[in-house]
Amino acid sequence: MFSKILIANRGEIACRVIKTARRLGIKTVAVYSDADRGARHVAMADEAAHIGPSAARESYLVADKIIEAARRTGAQAVHPGYGFLSENAGFAEACAAAGLVFIGPPPAAIRAMGSKSEAKKIMEKAKVPLVPGYHGDDQSPDLLAKEAQRIGFPVLIKASAGGGGKGMRVVEAAEKFADALAGAKREAKAAFADDHVLVEKYLTRPRHIEIQVFADSGDCLYLFERDCSIQRRHQKVIEEAPAPNMDPLRRKAMGEAAVAAARAIGYQGAGTVEFIADQDGTFFFMEMNTRLQVEHPVTEAITGQDLVEWQLVVASGGRMPLTQDQLRIDGHAVEVRLYAEDPARNFLPSTGTLVHLKLPEEGAHVRVDTGVRQGDTVTPFYDPMIAKVIVHDRDRTSALRRMAALMGETEVVGVTTNAALLKALCGHPAFVGGEIDTGFIERHRESLFATLAPADDRAFAIATLARLVEWQDRLPTAGDPHSPWNEQNGFRLLDEGHDEVRWKDGERDVTVIARRLRDGGLRLELPGGAQAARVRRTDDDKLAIGLGDDTFVATVVRRVAIDGSADYTLFADGRSRRLRLVDPLDLAMYEAAGAAEATVRAPLPGKIIDLKVKAGDTVSKGQPLLVLEAMKMEHTLAAPADGTIKSVRYAVGEQVSEGAELLEFEAAK
Ligand code: ADP
Repeated sequence: MFSKILIANRGEIACRVIKTARRLGIKTVAVYSDADRGARHVAMADEAAHIGPSAARESYLVADKIIEAARRTGAQAVHPGYGFLSENAGFAEACAAAGLVFIGPPPAAIRAMGSKSEAKKIMEKAKVPLVPGYHGDDQSPDLLAKEAQRIGFPVLIKASAGGGGKGMRVVEAAEKFADALAGAKREAKAAFADDHVLVEKYLTRPRHIEIQVFADSGDCLYLFERDCSIQRRHQKVIEEAPAPNMDPLRRKAMGEAAVAAARAIGYQGAGTVEFIADQDGTFFFMEMNTRLQVEHPVTEAITGQDLVEWQLVVASGGRMPLTQDQLRIDGHAVEVRLYAEDPARNFLPSTGTLVHLKLPEEGAHVRVDTGVRQGDTVTPFYDPMIAKVIVHDRDRTSALRRMAALMGETEVVGVTTNAALLKALCGHPAFVGGEIDTGFIERHRESLFATLAPADDRAFAIATLARLVEWQDRLPTAGDPHSPWNEQNGFRLLDEGHDEVRWKDGERDVTVIARRLRDGGLRLELPGGAQAARVRRTDDDKLAIGLGDDTFVATVVRRVAIDGSADYTLFADGRSRRLRLVDPLDLAMYEAAGAAEATVRAPLPGKIIDLKVKAGDTVSKGQPLLVLEAMKMEHTLAAPADGTIKSVRYAVGEQVSEGAELLEFEAAK
């Protein structure tokens, strides 16, 4: 076995590999780019090597830098994770040439499966069933159109070098073929520098079922299947094992076809053979991924095996710990991919600092694989996955029920996530009932994306109570038991003993009036009527709330935007909701009290493109200080108050992450 390995990856998969290595007593070396200097995988590894700027093509995709880092640190082997260089035969060869073991299949096997067209030719020979289609070398548009006609519409055009759903077009009818072909080729050329395509029958309502295979120097076996049919934009969102309604004979047939595929290319290590299946269960080979797959944990859960351990054993020349006959399926496992993305905006990635992060707790039934912690930033440079949450239970219904509950308890502030969608999916009667195919999300859009109902009284009450508690904390005399400001009996100067708090819920503007009662309680005048309320901050910083006859606990996270407006994210009853406080003036007043040494922070990750001040300058409130370019837009940051610039932390041209302190500022007294 190795004594030290380097992990040529980042994020959750790097952390996941480190975990197994550590358990086996193997030392680990992490690599990191500028953006990942303080990342979780770096903190977890025994050693770490810096490999360049944030852009992946200048760091995680540069084979030479990674090999050099392995050499420098004395690592004997390289684990590529998934993505990046994991399916790059040239990298596998370069590792070998440098005397490093590449923890993956032989380069020839990677090459054989690197092109979807070539892979299909090999599979045809190995008698593995293929989707009816054309995967030849002749790429003339006329021939391709004729082939499409022969296959019968609808057809799917796919980039041979494709991945991540790029270069893919569904064509419904002959007259749309030429345009779609041109589009697919353009996209393929841009993404893979290769515009070779294949054409195949487009299955309606198909299932994506894949087989985990494993091979060592002598044997090849399968660790059953995963169903990954719940997808958005042809990308997986939920994966489970075993596949619902899988007949044992079909499982065996698919497993054996996958093993035949792996044997046909002299495979070794972990691999996945992806099939697409009809509703009646007929299955066809789609492609083979020659690496560890994102969703491997569901297979680990039902088989009780650690696939990274198997990879390390096999790569160091050992044999697989079990034979086909010894493998069993235990219970049911479901994995969801928690993404920083906005389902309502066509799943647009969302970047920002995770100012508040509460992932499910791990336990007998729950596993969480993540590469981030609270305070970390989801940058625009890499995949915006926050975590994979895996549940293992006795059956599918129990696993889905548990997962829906976990997604309701997941709290993320700072980026938009798909948690609510994942919760809706896991609790959707049709999905729970076994309706499962790649069109599920689109077909059930309406019920899954239930347009956010207007905030209810409870939401306004929680936000208002949070605001009142905060007010209490911020008063200059907070903590002084003798101050009249701390009297809870309604005594107020020049005022009738009430506070008004204004909220914006989307376009709706709602004012809540809070009256303090003599008994220390409150009376909230909410849109739906008045309710008695009480609130107390708990030791773990939540709010214990009494509202009418209900008592419950809520978490409220307040976030101030650069323009001084504040968002309140509420987590209660397994749901979250965001309200915006309307009251910048008032806010500014309280903030100013604590702003003597205010800082100016970056509201978004971006680049400084203009600096208008230098250390020592005196500025007045609202004066522009610098310009930040973020997400293709310019943002001018202004002085929060009259004062002096104590220091400037960055220069023009520098990249900054969200929340970075850009200037040190001292407000005039
Ligand atoms: P990529 O490598 O870009 O991820 P795949 O070949 O793995 O592309 O296909 C991705 C997804 O596209 C599949 O999981 C499935 O949802 C859909 N898909 C692929 N081939 C077909 C087909 N012939 N008919 C219907 N859907 C398909």
